[in-house]
Amino acid sequence: MIPSLLPTYNRVDLAFERGQGSWLVTDGGERYLDLGAGIAVNALGHAHPALVEVLAEQGAKLWHVSNLYKIPQQQALADQLVDLTFADTVFFTNSGTEACELAVKMARKYWSDKGEERARIIGFDGSFHGRSSAGIAAAGGEKLTAGFGPLLPGFTHLPFGDLDGLTNELAEGDVAAVIIEPVQGEGGIRPVPDDELKAIRAACDDAGALLIFDEVQCGMGRTGKLFAHEFSGVTPDIMMVAKGIGGGFPLGAVLATEDAASGMVAGTHGSTYGGNPLACAVGSKVTEIVADPAFLAEVSRKAGLFRQKLEGLVAEHPDVFEGVRGSGLMLGLKCKATNMDVLAKCYDANLLCVPAGDNVLRILPALTIEDEDISEALTRLETAAKAVEGQSA
Ligand SMILES: *Cc1c(COP(=O)(O)O)cnc(C)c1O
Repeated sequence: MIPSLLPTYNRVDLAFERGQGSWLVTDGGERYLDLGAGIAVNALGHAHPALVEVLAEQGAKLWHVSNLYKIPQQQALADQLVDLTFADTVFFTNSGTEACELAVKMARKYWSDKGEERARIIGFDGSFHGRSSAGIAAAGGEKLTAGFGPLLPGFTHLPFGDLDGLTNELAEGDVAAVIIEPVQGEGGIRPVPDDELKAIRAACDDAGALLIFDEVQCGMGRTGKLFAHEFSGVTPDIMMVAKGIGGGFPLGAVLATEDAASGMVAGTHGSTYGGNPLACAVGSKVTEIVADPAFLAEVSRKAGLFRQKLEGLVAEHPDVFEGVRGSGLMLGLKCKATNMDVLAKCYDANLLCVPAGDNVLRILPALTIEDEDISEALTRLETAAKAVEGQSA
């Protein structure tokens, strides 16, 4: 008999009742150190006092009015994001995959308005853009798409890092946009090198194609910059944001230049919930805190500390781990043992990590993680690694 919850998830047998910072407490009162942060969502950890306050305050006033009316909280967050980034304009969604939907629509509308036959979108293997029809078509992986055809047409996929292939595709003249995660998340924490991002930008410019960055996972301070692409010095035309921006409240956004967004006039897109007062009040506070240069400098410092310790762990346990990869506090432990086996031992040590593709264990802690919790995390990873070694001995 089908369970009352549609069984699309392989859930771990754990349920949490409350959280504080980087710690979660089960319904049975057991404490877990959280290095997953709800898959890079709880950027400020659990129950951050400033977020609890703004949520309670806005919750007592007004939750939702619809986009029939002006929403000052939404306007304020859009102004913040425009001030802080390449973007001239912002649309708010409730999730990353909805941001993908709009990014694809925006790119196609741009060319349609110019009267050009350009609808094709180029993506890369190993990418993830969410589970909606545009999201799975844009990512293209068999695990995402099998059984869900006919897929949204007009998507082409290239191997990760295939710049020659990209140049060839762009030369066809029918490409509306290229979509890429500056740091692949689900695919296994694979950063795109800065010079590659630059080359992709240049290739798009040469061919006149738009460039979409998916910073749903790598954005909002995760890498130590507000957005990961800032390291490369290049900017996209359109950018998808979600996960961290709501700090745990469902919120996403599409940021765009004035030119890229030029086709999106009144009536072309909408969302009932998107950008409601409650979501934007929280998002505004998250953005204010995370965008502070002193906060971002702390993320980088902690990332350096964490990474150094992880390198030591890998060196001590060469049969379990192969290496460390990633950027800032978006870290991946490439495993030699099976990542799911290592993860099981992490759970045994009351430590939460997140699996990813390419046999990687993701480490995506709250950006506010304390130094002592980084040390504690290493102690527990050590315990897990020894347990894996014990198992195979
Ligand atoms: C999580 C994720 C998405 C999808 O976000 P949802 O909120 O789950 O729809 C899209 N792109 C990337 C890079 C992601 O990590």
